[in-house]
Amino acid sequence: MYDYLIVGAGLFGAVFAREAADAGKRVLVIDKRPHIAGNVYTEDVEGIHVHRYGAHIFHTNDSTVWGYVTRFATFNRFTNSPVANYKGELYSLPFNMYTFNKMWGVVTPEQAAAKIAEQRREIVGEPKNLEEQAISLVGRDIYEKLIKGYTEKQWGRDCRDLPAFIIKRLPVRLTFDNNYFNALYQGIPVGGYTKLAENLLDGIEVRLSCDYFADKAALDALADRVVYTGPIDAYFDYKLGTLEYRSVRFETELLDMPNFQGNAAVNYTDRETPWTRIIEHKWFEFGKDAQGNDLPKTVISREFSSEWKPGDEPYYPVNDAKNGALYQQYRGLADREEKVVFGGRLGEYKYYDMDQVIAAALRCCGKELG
Ligand code: FAD
Ligand code: UDP
Repeated sequence: MYDYLIVGAGLFGAVFAREAADAGKRVLVIDKRPHIAGNVYTEDVEGIHVHRYGAHIFHTNDSTVWGYVTRFATFNRFTNSPVANYKGELYSLPFNMYTFNKMWGVVTPEQAAAKIAEQRREIVGEPKNLEEQAISLVGRDIYEKLIKGYTEKQWGRDCRDLPAFIIKRLPVRLTFDNNYFNALYQGIPVGGYTKLAENLLDGIEVRLSCDYFADKAALDALADRVVYTGPIDAYFDYKLGTLEYRSVRFETELLDMPNFQGNAAVNYTDRETPWTRIIEHKWFEFGKDAQGNDLPKTVISREFSSEWKPGDEPYYPVNDAKNGALYQQYRGLADREEKVVFGGRLGEYKYYDMDQVIAAALRCCGKELG
């Protein structure tokens, strides 16, 4: 008999499992995938840690979370600085003086600010959607070349039908600073994210390729309480309807060349290129293997964003009004499941980054474990 059955060996499940085990609880972790680490899973290909479910860069301003995660991994000095490719023109991201200089030829912050001010005049009042928010932040030229196409590919919706907050994640700076994140702490765990998850789950029983719903009654009978980190609508057999997600398809290739694009991430911001971005995984670790040798080959992944349908991997919750309302109904059902705690990106249907998911798991432990 276990105190906790934890469904999902992603970051939420692994952090909860670690804390529960350290508090003296007996825990069993299951995952339907054949591996741990959930979406942050990395696998070794020719010495390169390939991010199987998309590029993951750890970044946080939360010193408690940073203190916690660095107990389980050493982080390298990687700083995310993606490049945008618009029909062969290259721009620096996020939007900063390098971008403004390339776009408009402006040289000083004052000139850049004036250009943005002139272009944002078309927006009057509070921005009502992503398009208006983007123009109000950086003006129409940048919106047209670097935002519109990418966003519409990423979300499969017109920018006028998307909420403004999505674009507020991106910094806009009047300095020469290509660091994509406004974060105090940033990096990639040395040895890959799978190693980080292994360290979190050290000494904890894990059953892989084990789908909770294939044997729910028997699995529930093994434990006093359940921590469920899968999709909340799947838990209730989609009885109120399916929550929408965006899914991503990756086409990954091993190339017999040392350097394909010279950067970890290149975003393709035009509408015509079918992929949103290309990741070259070796640059997350500076092109070196564990011994510090240059790697002769490279692995790239093209990312294609797609509408989710049952059976696909759900990646991004679509946090619009319709899905928010449906989630609230599921939340009501979840609150009545006395034995079950719902957590994580899918369990809470929230656009969580890794640091936020760790913080949420630690909060949940605080409530559950006392
Ligand atoms: P998950 O990692 O999804 O884990 C849930 C686990 O539950 C999965 O392993 C799943 O197999 C398992 N499960 C589900 N249903 C069942 C079932 N029925 N039975 C058994 N097991 C089940 N965050 C950042 O901070 N930085 C980034 O750069 C970043 N990039 C991202 C890029 C992409 C493409 C995506 C999709 C996300 C990105 N994130 C990033 C967010 C990050 O992936 C999440 O915050 C984090 O992985 C969520 O952890 P989780 O444990 O909640 O969910
Ligand atoms: N975005 C964009 N152009 C880019 C990169 C991002 O327009 O080159 C927009 C897009 O709408 C995206 C949002 O900014 O959804 C947030 O970007 P971020 O990289 O944070 O998205 P993530 O992939 O992490 O969800």
